[in-house]
Formats: sequence, structure tokens, C-alpha cells
Amino acid sequence: MLRSIVTGGAGFIGSHLVELLLAEGHHVIVLDNLANGRLGNLPARPERGTLEFHRVDISADPSQWEALFQGVDYVFHLAALADIVPSIQNPLTYYRANVDGTVHVLEAARKHQVRKLVYAASSSCYGLAKQFPTPETAPITPEYPYALTKWLGEQSVLHWERVYGLPALSLRLFNVYGPRARTSGTYGAVFGVFLAQKIHGKPFTVVGDGTQRRDFTFVKDVVNAFWMAAQSPFSGEVMNVGSGDSYSINRLVELLGGEVTYIPKRPGEPDCTFADTAKIRERLGWKPKYSFEEGVQVMLEHIRYWADAPIWTPQRIEEATKDWFRYLSK
Ligand code: UDP
Repeated sequence: MLRSIVTGGAGFIGSHLVELLLAEGHHVIVLDNLANGRLGNLPARPERGTLEFHRVDISADPSQWEALFQGVDYVFHLAALADIVPSIQNPLTYYRANVDGTVHVLEAARKHQVRKLVYAASSSCYGLAKQFPTPETAPITPEYPYALTKWLGEQSVLHWERVYGLPALSLRLFNVYGPRARTSGTYGAVFGVFLAQKIHGKPFTVVGDGTQRRDFTFVKDVVNAFWMAAQSPFSGEVMNVGSGDSYSINRLVELLGGEVTYIPKRPGEPDCTFADTAKIRERLGWKPKYSFEEGVQVMLEHIRYWADAPIWTPQRIEEATKDWFRYLSK
């Protein structure tokens, strides 16, 4: 039986990856500090495979949890702090979780000689990209500490690959959405914001004029990329994971259906994200299976999940994004 560790396995993307690995018959070991993840995201009784959960903070002393890597085949490292505003307010906390945490995981993977480590990197490393679709070779310009720390995590992964020969790949994810997309806490991730607004009959808070575009990638496609990356012979590479297209916020609103209100454009926000996915298609033979329309339909079918999510009004957003404007306005 293959053994896989998923850090952040109780989170949004992590829990979908856990589902896939269980369906593949793995023994899955989830490490999650439950800061944002939820136990309820994990299957109670998997039909295939077996599941083990450990409440572990990867930024804490690795001697407490490193032994869990014994005999492990694959490590999927998704545990991280997300979101822009709190990363601006608490850069050190982000550094500890996303950089120190990653180095701890790399050391554990190295010591226990795992077959492959796959890292969840962020397309936010491209900042305000100038080339579309954006290839992996585009300039790195992180705009805020979240983007910086995820990129430093990626650099650490590549460093461990080069220096210690740890087989590893880094996947740069573009605007992942799907069931269980984060509901709690701070402002961000447009799907959670809009779906909660829809449930409560509030207008969608469209940023700017809504013509900005995002490469919205469905989570089921993303976790397939992780599993294909793990099984592939490649190592020491970075690959974009995107839908192969990009969609405006106005199109999203049209598909969700509802009233709209407009809020100011935020500084440091790209007008477009759009992944060049030629590399992952060619190397891994991966391609997305869900169209945007199908993915949004799945979100609407699961809309009750966001019933308890915070309802963001323009006033609350203005309050929540004060530091964003304060620090990032040039
Ligand atoms: N967005 C929006 N209203 C909101 C939140 C986000 O129109 O209340 C837009 C935002 O301008 C961006 C897209 O949705 O174009 C995705 O935003 P998110 O914060 O999810 O991701 P990111 O901007 O980091 O790509």
C-alpha cells in the first residue's frame, strides 16, 4: 500500500487531494494544524484506502512530528497561510508557516528518503505579469508577503532538490476554486465572497469594472496535477497549473446570477492572470477536464457549504482592506 503525506490535508485543496489519493488506495497521513482546515473536510469513512490524521503545526519543532515520515512514498506539501491582508499585517507569522514550515517538511522528507515531494506554489509570484499566457520563465515580482513567502518556499524546494537530491516538483497554482473553498476568516478568494453574498441575497461586490480576468482552475483538475506530478519521472522543475483560459469577473457574475455593486480596485492587483500550461501538458500529459461553466455549476450545487461564511458588504470590505491600500498604494 502506498503511503502519502498531505500537509494541509484538512484544507480546501488538500482535502480534495486526500480524496483522490484514498480513491487510488493509498494510506494517507494528513498533517494539519486546523488553523484554516476543518476536520469536516475529510471523509469520515473512506471507501478505499486508509486515513490517519495528526494535528501538527509544521512551523513548530519538527522533532515532534518528523517520525511520521517513516516509510512514506509521497509528500504533498500544501500546508500554508494564505490571504493577502493578514500577510501584510503579520509577515513574520507568514514567514514561519510558509518558509520555515516548508524547510521543516523538506528536511523530514530528505531524512526519510521519500520518493517524491510535490509543493503547492502560487502564481502570485508573477505579480503584475506582462506576458499572457504567462510562462514559468516570466519575471518573479511578488507584490506582498504571502506571494514572497510562497515563492521562498518554492526556492527552498528547488534548493533541497539540487543540494540533497530530494526528488521534488513545484506546481504554481492559478486561482483554484471548487467545493470547500475557504469560508471563514479574512476577506479574499472571490468565490467564497460571492457565494455567501448570493445565499443572503446581497449584491456581488465587483472590484473595479469587473473586466479583470482570472485563470480560474477547478480543484479536481488541480489535484490530478499533483498526483500526476508525483508519479512522473521529472524532478527539480516548476510547472504552471491553470485552466488554459481566463475569465472576467463579469462573466463569473453572469454565471452565478445576481445583483452587483462596485468597489474600488485594489493596489498590486493584476488585471489578468492566465497560465501558460504548455509545459505541464507536454511533460505530464496533464490537461484540465472541467470547463469554467461546469465548475461554476458545481459551486452552485454546493452553495449551502457557504451558508455560515462571512457576508461581505462594501463597508466591511473597505474596513478589512485598509492595510492593503495603506501599504501597497504606490
Ligand atoms: N474580486 C471581486 N470582488 C471581491 C473579491 C474579489 O470582484 O469581493 C475579484 C478580484 O478583483 C480578482 C478576482 O475576483 O479579479 C479574484 O480575486 P481573489 O482575491 O479571489 O484572487 P486574486 O486577486 O488573488 O487572484
